[in-house]
Amino acid sequence: MSLIIDSLHSHIAEKDVLKGISLTVQPGEIHAIMGPNGSGKSTLAYTLAGHPAYEVDTVKSRVELDGENLMELSPDERAKQGVFLAFQYPTEIPGVSVQNFLRALWEARFGPLKDNPEKSFDSVLAFRRYLQAEAEKLGVAPELLQRNLNEGFSGGERKRVEILQMSLFKPRYAILDETDSGLDIDAIRIVAEGAKHIVETHDTGVLLITHYQRILQFIEPDFVHVLVNGQIVKSGEKELAQELENTGYEPYLTQ
Ligand code: ADP
Ligand code: MG
Repeated sequence: MSLIIDSLHSHIAEKDVLKGISLTVQPGEIHAIMGPNGSGKSTLAYTLAGHPAYEVDTVKSRVELDGENLMELSPDERAKQGVFLAFQYPTEIPGVSVQNFLRALWEARFGPLKDNPEKSFDSVLAFRRYLQAEAEKLGVAPELLQRNLNEGFSGGERKRVEILQMSLFKPRYAILDETDSGLDIDAIRIVAEGAKHIVETHDTGVLLITHYQRILQFIEPDFVHVLVNGQIVKSGEKELAQELENTGYEPYLTQ
């Protein structure tokens, strides 16, 4: 059981972006991927999730999800297999309540509410009770569940709902692309705590993608990888994040 990324090459709009990424994520491990803007961090996240704009060089690349060839799975199948790209839906969805959105997400992962191997609910009401209990555990106010997704949410509320979304999904592997450098410190803490929560409760393997090391004040990665120009130029343990904080990416840019 592991997510094995082996020599991943991927391009977008004729531009080679990922030029041979290799790393293995075991369940329960947190890998931080750090790198300057434009180094290919988001491309890595979208490529793994199966975004159609990103084309993989299938001759050179191999990605194995718990023994299966990830590249042969559609984005929906990847989701069913437990690959979760965090914050896929950061925007408002008018007219869709949080609870209905979460139900659709849950069914996409586990199948119809009734008669599924994960948990059978005999009614939508029973599912809502389950949602409320989960929301409470993660500090999501119950009234938020009835509101339209992200409509008028504060940054913190948005993040909490995203973490609830991730937690209900019980990902085997979660990819968190922290593109939003405008997040305040409370929101960053919520994301960090949410990531720790899924690692502890579901033994999820996490790829935590980040430009800044701020989030790493709240979560200790097992491994840190420096991504520059589509390649991992250095891997280490958590001390590497500290080192980057002191030196910046400068020492790696000339390589
Ligand atoms: P990061 O997330 O590390 O900032 P990205 O993965 O977003 O980097 O981008 C990597 C490279 O791919 C950049 O040079 C960027 O300009 C390019 N790129 C990303 N999206 C597109 C696109 N839609 N069309 C052309 N080039 C793109
Ligand atoms: Mg990015």
